[in-house]
This record gives sequence, structure tokens and C-alpha cells, in this order.
Amino acid sequence: MVYDYLIVGAGFAGCVTAERLASSGKKVLLIDKRPHIGGNAFDEFDQYGILIHKYGPHIFHTNSEQIFKYLSKFTEWHHYEHRVLAKVDDQLLPIPINLDTINRLYHLDLDEESLKDFYEKVREPREFIRTSEDVVLNTVGRDLYEKFYRGYTRKQWGMDPSELSASVTARIPVRTNRDDRYFTDTYQVMPLHGYAKMFKKMIDLPNIELKLETDFEAIKDYVQASHIIYTGPIDTYFNYRFGKLPYRSLRFEHEHDDSIQQCQPTGTVNYPNDFDFTRITEFKHLTGQTHSGTSIVREYPQSEGDPYYPVPRSENEFLYKKYKSLAEEEKNVTFVGRLAQYRYYNMDQVVGAALSVVEKLLEAGSV
Ligand code: FAD
Ligand code: UDP
Repeated sequence: MVYDYLIVGAGFAGCVTAERLASSGKKVLLIDKRPHIGGNAFDEFDQYGILIHKYGPHIFHTNSEQIFKYLSKFTEWHHYEHRVLAKVDDQLLPIPINLDTINRLYHLDLDEESLKDFYEKVREPREFIRTSEDVVLNTVGRDLYEKFYRGYTRKQWGMDPSELSASVTARIPVRTNRDDRYFTDTYQVMPLHGYAKMFKKMIDLPNIELKLETDFEAIKDYVQASHIIYTGPIDTYFNYRFGKLPYRSLRFEHEHDDSIQQCQPTGTVNYPNDFDFTRITEFKHLTGQTHSGTSIVREYPQSEGDPYYPVPRSENEFLYKKYKSLAEEEKNVTFVGRLAQYRYYNMDQVVGAALSVVEKLLEAGSV
């Protein structure tokens, strides 16, 4: 068969590009080596009937009306604002750190204004903010750094915050008010019937042929396509020519309890200082599902396994740039997505990147 586009990977990057191109009349072959679509955002009902996220909790949030409207073509939504508590000093305290976190942790009665003075007193000002340690120390000082960030980051990344780019811990704001939402984006929603259903509707087009359990390596010499969109790890595409790009992996431990309806007060509880896992997520909070039992997932970070997170540090960025230069020389291949662009992208950012890639390809009239 001859295709206009071969798209490698059926996650957000692959499905969005497939949908946009097929809707413009292009003939698309979409492949994934896994037995399902949706990439890491894939969800399914477990054997007890609870909708779970196979690869850890995925909460959709965006400030982009364009991205929200685009996805709304394929799903209705359940409104959900994520809240997270961190187990610190035997208390469950709001993270991002806010006014209640500080008052409860230190048994104080501060208001917003006096909390600003408090942060000013405890922070360790840094002239240059280079690392994830700098970000936190510069904002809230050493005690809060050690209680909320250091242990979590060491577990999650297998390295000290001082070895990671500032952008990692900068994802978590520090607040002076009592807002205990994890995200403050305009749109905070979950696909009403799940991510997998949304993806299915997205790629249900006559111009898209889907092949699962199909590795690019195994078919690349046989498929005829004028252009390839590659959403897998960029170093794998180039056969690790400059060495392996580090990606952090996780082991997910799913568990069901049929004796209780709810096991924790918020969708996620973080464990910065105890256990080998970073956090526990209870899915019913996220999806709004009612059920007599409950299902959770624990995330155990590890270095080996499926690539889930690019590791933001300058030496990795340097190595990525070398692969990026090779990618720019590949005439009929476009690299997009969290693994292909080696970016710590949230789902909405991947949708944004995929939409703009297709716009450029169609404008250029490349195929
Ligand atoms: P992926 O979803 O990784 O898809 C790439 C696909 O390519 C995979 O299905 C893979 O099997 C396939 N593939 C790779 N190589 C090949 C090959 N050689 N041949 C065939 N197929 C191949 N984002 C949020 O916005 N909110 C969240 O709450 C959130 N939580 C997250 C929690 C965890 C634990 C993780 C790991 C990520 C989370 N994210 C979250 C990020 C989100 O998962 C990503 O932004 C998004 O799913 C990336 O989409 P993608 O298509 O770029 O990559
Ligand atoms: N982080 C932390 N303590 C927390 C939550 C987050 O130190 O309680 C740091 C940690 O380095 C983590 C990063 O902030 O990797 C980003 O957190 P986020 O919740 O955005 O991670 P993700 O959901 O992408 O795994």
C-alpha cells in the first residue's frame, strides 16, 4: 500500500496529526507498537469495573481555547479540579504550598500579607537560578525544600534537585493565598467517557489505517509513504548514534479495594519522604465515577523501562540538540511529541505542537 503519511506512535502527537491530515484528504497509516491507542494517556476499565489510567494519572488542563475546542470535537467533558496533599511530618498538607500549608505545618496563624514576610525571612536568595534546588531555596528556603521537594525529586529523578534544570521544580508554584488546586488553568477537564474513547473517535476516519503491535523498525523498509511523522524517542530513530538520551521510567502498581468507596481525601497524595513510590492516585476522584469499591495506583520511579520523562538537565539538552540537527536533515520526516522533541510536555502542549506541525506541513504542501 502507498500512503501519504506514515505516523509512528498513536498517542496525542500521533492521533492529532493523523486526524488533521486525514481530514485534509491525506491517506494515513498510523502505527503503534503497543496493543492500544492513546499512548501514555491510555485508560481502560480494570477487572472491577473502575476506569483507570494504565500509565499513571492524567489530568487535562490548558489555558488554550483553541486546544480545548479542538479536543471538544471528540469528547464531552467532566469538570475536575485536581487537588494534591503531601504527607509531611505526619500531616497531609496542601501542595502547591499555600497559606494553609504553612499555618498547619508550623502551627501559625498568618494571613496573606504576613505569609509574604514569612517567605522573605526563610528564603535563601540566589543571584542565578540554574537548578531545581535554586528555584525552591530562592522562594521558600531550606526547611520547606527538605520537607516537600528534596526527597520527592530524588525519588522521581534518581538525582538531587541541584543536578536538574530549574524548570522541573518550577512546575510547582508557591502561593500566598489559600488556593489548593494543583493547576490554575482556565480549562480543567477530563474526557467524560475516558481518553481511549476520545482517541477512538478522533481517528475513526476512512483515510486512517491503524496497525497496532507494529514496530517502526519492523515495517520501515516495506511501507511506502511520502512523509513520516515520528513520535517515538528521537535517539532510537537514529539508532543511538550519539549515545542514549536519558528518559526516566516508572513502575505502576495498581490495586483495588472492594471494601471501601474512597481511600484518600484527594485525587493524589504525595509521599516526599516515605516509601519508594512518589505518589498514590485514586482514580474515582479524577473521573467522578461512582462505584462501591476503589482503585489506586502507586508510582515507583526507575531508570530502566518504557521512556516516560525526558530528564531536563543541560548535558541532556546538549545531546538532544545533536539529534535535533540530524532530524533537521531528514528531508521527509517530522519529529513531534514528548519523546521525539525531548520536552517535558503536558498533554495540551503536545496537542499544540501536533496542530502546528500539521499546519506547517499543509501550508508547505509537502505532500
Ligand atoms: P506518548 O503518549 O508517549 O506516545 C508515543 C507512542 O509512540 C507510544 O504509544 C509508543 O508505544 C509509540 N512508539 C514509540 N516508539 C515506537 C516505534 N518504534 N514503533 C511504533 N510505535 C512506537 N500530562 C498532562 O497534561 N497532565 C497530566 O496529569 C499528566 N500526567 C502524566 C503522568 C505520567 C506518569 C506521565 C508519564 C505523563 C503524564 N503527562 C501528563 C504527560 C503526557 O503523558 C504526555 O504529554 C503525552 O501523553 C505525550 O504524548 P505523545 O504522543 O508525545 O507521547
Ligand atoms: N515535586 C516535588 N514535590 C512534590 C511535587 C512535585 O518535589 O510534592 C517536584 C518534583 O521534582 C517533580 C516536579 O516537582 O518531579 C514536577 O511535579 P509534577 O507534579 O508536575 O510532576 P508530574 O506530574 O509531571 O510527574
